Amino acid sequence: MSGPATGEPEHLAAFEALAADKLAPLAEDWERAGAVSREIVPLLAGAGLLGALVPTASGGTGWSHRDYGEANRVLGALSPSAQSLLTVHGMVTQALARWGSAPLRALLPRFAGGHAVAAFALSEADAGSDVRQLASTAEQVDGGWRLTGVKRWISFGQLADAFLVFARTAAGDAAFLVRRDDRGVTVSPEARTAGLRAARLAVLELDGCTVPGERLVGRPGFALTQIGGRALTYGRLWVAFGAVGLAESCHRATLERITTQSRFGQPLKDFQLVRGLVSDTELAVRSARLLARQAATASDTASQWLMDEVLAAKLAASRAATLAAGVCAQIHGAQGLVEDSPVQRRLADARVMEIIEGNTQLVQDLLADQTIARWRATSRGGVQ
Ligand SMILES: Cc1cc2nc3c(=O)[nH]c(=O)nc-3n(C[C@H](O)[C@H](O)[C@H](O)COP(=O)(O)OP(=O)(O)OC[C@H]3O[C@@H](n4cnc5c(N)ncnc54)[C@H](O)[C@@H]3O)c2cc1C
Repeated sequence: MSGPATGEPEHLAAFEALAADKLAPLAEDWERAGAVSREIVPLLAGAGLLGALVPTASGGTGWSHRDYGEANRVLGALSPSAQSLLTVHGMVTQALARWGSAPLRALLPRFAGGHAVAAFALSEADAGSDVRQLASTAEQVDGGWRLTGVKRWISFGQLADAFLVFARTAAGDAAFLVRRDDRGVTVSPEARTAGLRAARLAVLELDGCTVPGERLVGRPGFALTQIGGRALTYGRLWVAFGAVGLAESCHRATLERITTQSRFGQPLKDFQLVRGLVSDTELAVRSARLLARQAATASDTASQWLMDEVLAAKLAASRAATLAAGVCAQIHGAQGLVEDSPVQRRLADARVMEIIEGNTQLVQDLLADQTIARWRATSRGGVQ
């Protein structure tokens, strides 16, 4: 259903109202304290966001990807750390809905209702971008699998009740749902990162942790390319929207500053070089927003060029965030350099957008592949 004036769906308009009234003041506290608190879980669940990517038949709210993206944009402007909960919880619930066994799919209403939080556990100390270097193993044992390894930088791992874990088996790479209360699981806080500093990052240690066979997600030999690959495509889409939100908030702070401050007898907004910064940022933010929306629509319409659209959106949005955060810091002068200030936090958050869910250089490489493939598929030859 959509609202009368804007055509915006009611569930999205309701989330925007919640964000303005409740989440904005909380987000400031979380960012300052360096920890998003658990109270975010019922708030996001109540808005339908923790079940947004879960089919309604499994207890979800079944939002369109376009609407979910917009919610990520709104939250990304308030707290990029909090937005990353939507990224990882969304990636895992989507993967379980598509590839989970019947007992795993039966858990979806708990995830959708905010009774359990899901985290994505792929990275290891030497396997971030290059997941072929995964060292975690899963050995088949009577009735299940025994997992051993150490997963790093797990967003919201400190709060998570379950983890989608990737490991090697004798039959190839595989994914498993590991519960926090499984024997052999230790969760400890990760060293705090400068960006996404409130995202409750954790180290997940699996010391011979044994899980029943039904916790295998998909089948061995299929996990990194299919489950991980698809999860990362969606993760990149949610990061792109979050990065657009972050870029928009930096750009707004820049506009506020240049329209209220004067130097050398004229408003900052009237300096030609400042105007160049403003128009470059406006262009970057506006095009990133359009590309993110286009990618979400590609997903909602099951376009064969989804990956291409998402990679373009991720690249544009993370770069827009870097540009907008840098301009914002520059235009704030010494005040923009104050440690722990919102300007500095946004600068550090923007850096993270160029690393997570595929670093910028890797995304460029993948986008070149997609660009060439799309050109080959659609070109009729010659200059047109
Ligand atoms: C705040 C935060 C949250 C995170 N959350 C999660 C999470 O929830 N779950 C999870 O599994 N992981 C998570 N990670 C880990 C993240 O996915 C990795 O940091 C990321 O994949 C990059 O891996 P790396 O840090 O090992 O860098 P590396 O792989 O060592 O890459 C370092 C640099 O090398 C260059 N490089 C690497 N590969 C290429 C290439 N193919 N072509 C050109 N240049 C290249 C790039 O410049 C790159 O930035 C998180 C990380 C951070 C910082």
